[in-house]
Amino acid sequence: MGKMLLLPCQGEAGRGFRFTYMNNFASRLIRWQHKHGRHDLPWQGAEAYRVWLSEIMLQQTQVSTVIPYYQRFIAAFPNIAALAAASEEQVLAHWSGLGYYARGRNLHAAARIIVGRHGGEFPRRYEQILELPGIGRSTAAAICALAWHERRAILDGNVKRVLARYCGIEGWTGDKKVEAQLWQQAEALLPSPCRGISGVNRNIASYTQALMDMGATVCKRSQPKCGECPVQADCVALQTDRVHELPTPRPRKAVPERHALFLLLIHGNDILLEKRPGGGIWGGLWCPPQFDEEAAAWAWCAQNGIEPRHLRAGSNPAKTNNQCAAIPPFTHTFTHFKLHITPALLCVARKPQQAQQPGNVWLDVEDALQAAIPAPVRTMLNLLVRKNLS
Ligand code: SF4
Repeated sequence: MGKMLLLPCQGEAGRGFRFTYMNNFASRLIRWQHKHGRHDLPWQGAEAYRVWLSEIMLQQTQVSTVIPYYQRFIAAFPNIAALAAASEEQVLAHWSGLGYYARGRNLHAAARIIVGRHGGEFPRRYEQILELPGIGRSTAAAICALAWHERRAILDGNVKRVLARYCGIEGWTGDKKVEAQLWQQAEALLPSPCRGISGVNRNIASYTQALMDMGATVCKRSQPKCGECPVQADCVALQTDRVHELPTPRPRKAVPERHALFLLLIHGNDILLEKRPGGGIWGGLWCPPQFDEEAAAWAWCAQNGIEPRHLRAGSNPAKTNNQCAAIPPFTHTFTHFKLHITPALLCVARKPQQAQQPGNVWLDVEDALQAAIPAPVRTMLNLLVRKNLS
């Protein structure tokens, strides 16, 4: 690990080679990236705004899922000014289905800060980037490395896995001490500065992309392809037969379980949705009225002149003017808890008064599917459409 190798560094055309020290790990990764890495991602070689957007979308989400969202987002908001000028509603509608909606809200807030504080130009300095909401140390470094060829270390989830294995670092990578060790290695393994006449670090973008590609395609969470790995010769985990032990899994803790009843109030083809207050997992998104328990839903119905006997959570609802069938309960898993969802479908002959106040909206179910809604609500609405219940 960390062997030093004398490698030629390509200088400016016609000026021959300039020689510089490049550590072994970095040079092998860069060569591998040129030959086997991904070169056709839509944000590769793009300006900082697009690199930033891709980095945020790629947090917790795979490339294949991100690409269509990224393309639709760029078509709707082609630059920072367009993103800042959009409403949060529009931004979240384009984020709908990607999950982790705080990412979309932060992206929007950051675009407005960039317009207000930096005249609409993506800030050029690492420290300024770090001040923007939703951008941590690794994301700021990735933007600097990929957009401006600045020599910065990244440490996202995939890179943590690669380095924990390659360096043989024990312990859960979310632990502060373990994370500090990983950052130390991430810095130490960076390619040495290798500047052309323009002063550009020519290797850092390839190296950063190589780490990302390695984590996604070779040093995968399960069934890593060590036989195809460019650093297999001195990978500590491979040499010590601990590939499947590293990184050390998160200490087991019982995942909290919560319950929610969603009242799917249907009038004709319309469904009632409420805008969730800002913050929280679904802040700013549209959801049917949600209750912790059936009794609370009955009380809400009573206040709105709907007879509680009409509500049958998770089973055939009573019908007033439509034949309605059941939507079965299901579970949605978040990273930190499980939500057991009971849909309660209720068809009403008239729209209740209270349900017409600001913050509430009646939308055609098909239109509601285009709005900023979280994934479990999409699941329920799709079932309504499929069963032709609305
Ligand atoms: Fe990962 Fe295997 Fe490569 Fe080690 S040899 S870095 S475990 S892919």
